Amino acid sequence: MTYGLISDIHANIEALTATLAELTSVDAFLCMGDIVGYGPDPIACIDRLQSLPNLTCVAGNHDLAAIGRYSLDWFNDFARAAIEWTGERLTADARSYLEGLDLTAELPDAFLVHGAYPDHMEYIVAPADAMGTFESMPVSPCFIGHTHVAEYYRNRKGARHADSHSALLGCSIALKPDLRYIVNPGSIGQPRDGNPDASFGIYDTKAQRLEIRRASYDIPAVQRKMREARLPQHLIDRLPRGR
Ligand code: ZN
Repeated sequence: MTYGLISDIHANIEALTATLAELTSVDAFLCMGDIVGYGPDPIACIDRLQSLPNLTCVAGNHDLAAIGRYSLDWFNDFARAAIEWTGERLTADARSYLEGLDLTAELPDAFLVHGAYPDHMEYIVAPADAMGTFESMPVSPCFIGHTHVAEYYRNRKGARHADSHSALLGCSIALKPDLRYIVNPGSIGQPRDGNPDASFGIYDTKAQRLEIRRASYDIPAVQRKMREARLPQHLIDRLPRGR
């Protein structure tokens, strides 16, 4: 089985389309949430996800906030403005799709959560943050999103520490049976690790191999749509910076 790993699409249909063009040969998709928020095309992104074969998707904080199930108090002014903009534009179908997303998903060969586990919306940005998730996750690898940074963490079962590895320039690694992994494939629609290209992954369960890759897309086209939608200028400016 090969899985396409996608996360933090953030209503960026150009980035999602470029990513999916690189994932035409996978058997199934895993999405770690934040389909909407920040970007100008929430409905198109939800529609595209719904058309994918064998998709398992969990909810992100922006998905939940857009349907009123997560407090706007948790967000900065720019994020909040975009969430309110999104919420006003969700169709009944799109809303009901977001309402149907769970906070976690457990498969025989993968576990999904947006931020961390069991604190779903916590951020894993350092090995110490990852330990609670390593101790609680039922299956390895655990796939996450939320930080918009492509990287992975490793832990030997029983050990009280983990190590972290950047995947800023992509990676291809053989998963070792004696290690557990938390993997963030990075963000498709709004990378924040200094590389503006859409970030995604491929997980081959048979070969026990994990890849993280990048896809370039038409950032100015997305910026134009964001300007027309009057989304916050800060969100428009950060796309080409990848920060
Ligand atoms: Zn996000």
